[in-house]
Amino acid sequence: MTESFTALTIDAARRAVAARLRQAAIESAELDARLLIGAVLELDLTGLITAAARLLTPDEAAALDALVARRIEGEPVARILGVKEFWGLPLHLSGDTLVPRPDTETIVEAALQSFAGASLPGEPRPAEPLPRLSLQRASGPQRIADLGTGSGAILLALLSEWPDAQGVATDISLDALRTARGNAARLGLADRAGFVACNYASALQGPFDLIVSNPPYIRSADIAALDREVREHDPRRALDGGADGLDAYRTIAQQAAALLAPGGALIVEIGQGQDDEVAALMRSAGLTTDGAPKPDLAGIARAVIGRRPGG
Ligand code: GLN
Repeated sequence: MTESFTALTIDAARRAVAARLRQAAIESAELDARLLIGAVLELDLTGLITAAARLLTPDEAAALDALVARRIEGEPVARILGVKEFWGLPLHLSGDTLVPRPDTETIVEAALQSFAGASLPGEPRPAEPLPRLSLQRASGPQRIADLGTGSGAILLALLSEWPDAQGVATDISLDALRTARGNAARLGLADRAGFVACNYASALQGPFDLIVSNPPYIRSADIAALDREVREHDPRRALDGGADGLDAYRTIAQQAAALLAPGGALIVEIGQGQDDEVAALMRSAGLTTDGAPKPDLAGIARAVIGRRPGG
């Protein structure tokens, strides 16, 4: 039986939660402790510091205890909170959406760079990720599609960067689409975003200047070996890419080749080691893939870019 957090100050409770999480071998124990207490008390970091000396009420202590138990059972903090920040935007999640990953910001960066002309496919890549300048605005795409949008992460990040762009997001999950639409509304982007229930682009009409996607790409047989936080808490439909992990790209490459405007770009997230195969699928659909894939912060090729010739 673990000790209750009742009659502790906020600061003492934070330390007690962190200790309990560390004991459970949770790496981000300090940060998670702050986030969980903040969620119970509805306080941000500054609020927690300001209120550090106040005592938790018994109800707050019980609520905190329940959240800590969920965390120790392997539920990610983003799932417990129901919110995750992506590209600086707070996004609500649901059971049918992935928790957006920092890796996926690579897709956003690749898109911004490809329209800014800062790093066109075929040009040498900058050694450091470009700063998030908003220079791309004048030359940004007019119409964007995000296939399998989940929480809306990629599309909403792009719309937040390109104030003149319009976008449509698709998903096979109505629940995910509702979540994405709610996120668009909270971020003030709803008037430029449409939401369509379909398989990737199957119900969309082009032309699009840019198509993006973070589809499921894990090989079915590898799902069992994923981290528990992913395996048990991310939706399987958002992870499982079929026997070779490439099912989604076969569909998306064909659809994109038919829907892109001449010169338009398809930018997809890939799993580790899938860059050659995904580029080959794009080429056999009639797209060109001249540039190197863009690596994530760990140096793993993460974004593959194809273009419809012409334009
Ligand atoms: N990046 C996710 C993971 O590592 C997988 C997401 C996906 O399949 N698109 O678990």
